[in-house]
Amino acid sequence: MGLDRLDAQLLLLLAFGTTPAELGARRTWLLAHADDAVPAAAHSRFEKYLQRRSAGEPLAYITGHKEFFGLELQVDARVLVPRPDTETLVQWTLEVLTGPIPVDFDPPFATLDLGTGSGAIALALKHARPDLQVDAVDASSDALAVAQANACRLGLLVRFSQGWWLDRVTRRYHCIIANPPYVAAHDPHLAALAHEPIQALVSGPDGLRDIRHIVQAAQSRLWPDAWLLLEHGHDQALAVRTMFAQAGYHSIESRRDLTGHARCTGGQVPRT
Ligand code: GLN
Repeated sequence: MGLDRLDAQLLLLLAFGTTPAELGARRTWLLAHADDAVPAAAHSRFEKYLQRRSAGEPLAYITGHKEFFGLELQVDARVLVPRPDTETLVQWTLEVLTGPIPVDFDPPFATLDLGTGSGAIALALKHARPDLQVDAVDASSDALAVAQANACRLGLLVRFSQGWWLDRVTRRYHCIIANPPYVAAHDPHLAALAHEPIQALVSGPDGLRDIRHIVQAAQSRLWPDAWLLLEHGHDQALAVRTMFAQAGYHSIESRRDLTGHARCTGGQVPRT
């Protein structure tokens, strides 16, 4: 694969020992020193980084960092790289939590991030709204180790626990959010995602197996009128809205990501 000029610049800076958090700011330094000789050690590090990037490894795994919703997260191959698309979901969650208060609730607002991975969604919510109680689950103990380390480094108090979706969740929440796997098992796009954990990407033959499960299972873990908000594939909005409707949710809508795709769908649990 051809290498992006920006990626190559960032990798060169990394080879010079620039910390991941400083990479963006140091690009001007690189331009000012464009004619300097590169020391042998930095050169050989740069070559290794280039090889990894050319083999399709995400830049975030090589730098070990990814920015999400203004937070610097540490990431590696144990977790999916947080995508800017998912910021739409965080934004929407923050909006519904400032809206009318669901009936039958006890303050503080409690939110649950399912399949938290690096902790991106949960940590962004806690950072934006320190008054929220934020819980997060993941089936992978490896992912939870990454998420917990991010929470510690950022000084954000999120309660992490291990479990498959809602299986071990016993309480009710005011909002449940998830960026579950949603790629179909034989989707050709998977070739470009080969370095990321497959269990965070693939969800059965149609990509909807996990979403189907969550839409059903979340109802009994949400207060009446509380929201379930899910990210999904760019062409899955109609299918996901139909699932929400069939399960009896109301106020169902979809939201677009930064590139204009209907990327998340949400609805409120009926009062029954
Ligand atoms: N947005 C990712 C991609 O298609 C998939 C993430 C997911 O399955 N949750 O690149």
